[in-house]
Amino acid sequence: MAYSDEFLGYLELKQDLLFNKIPPEARKSYITQALEIGQEAASQVSTASITRLYEQASIKIVKVEKSGQLFKTKLRAQYEEGPNHTAKVTYYKESIENLARSGGLSYDQALKIHLAHEFFHYWEMEKATPVNEQLAKVKLTKVFGWQRYGTILRTSEIAANAFTKAFLKLPFLPNLYDYQYLMTTKELPADWLTQAHAAYQDEVGEN
Ligand SMILES: [Zn+2]
Repeated sequence: MAYSDEFLGYLELKQDLLFNKIPPEARKSYITQALEIGQEAASQVSTASITRLYEQASIKIVKVEKSGQLFKTKLRAQYEEGPNHTAKVTYYKESIENLARSGGLSYDQALKIHLAHEFFHYWEMEKATPVNEQLAKVKLTKVFGWQRYGTILRTSEIAANAFTKAFLKLPFLPNLYDYQYLMTTKELPADWLTQAHAAYQDEVGEN
């Protein structure tokens, strides 16, 4: 089954805490804009080597042998900014191995996917504007008559995945591997993706 970028982007958008604040007719544009930002960033990098990319940007790579855990979420890799624009990406070997196994990927491929994804987070913070801040704000509930606004953080994930897909020439957005993993571990039901896709087709009328 080939899943479109729009569908996989939509699954990501749906996880946003403010998803319900996005006017339904605007959902698609958040997805397509985020996808374009990620693809555009991939077309701007001057190397096809992930190692060169990190060297050029002086981003330190830190490997942790065990699996990462943050609250109840599995952590596989994480970008952090240090003082004076220093940057590092930490990855958790065991978590990446588990993902590779469930997705039928080699460890090396799975690692590249995570490093490319985190590189995009570096890029949006250091070289551009965070994706969620580039896109339209949503209106939050008024407090004592004051209108507040929020940004859609998940658009940054959609863009990072689009960057990764384009940079590594993957057949689909790599968040598909996350869902496959969660179905393997039974954290999601085995037919979750099929059901989600059917619901998307009903709702949006597209593949
Ligand atoms: Zn991310």
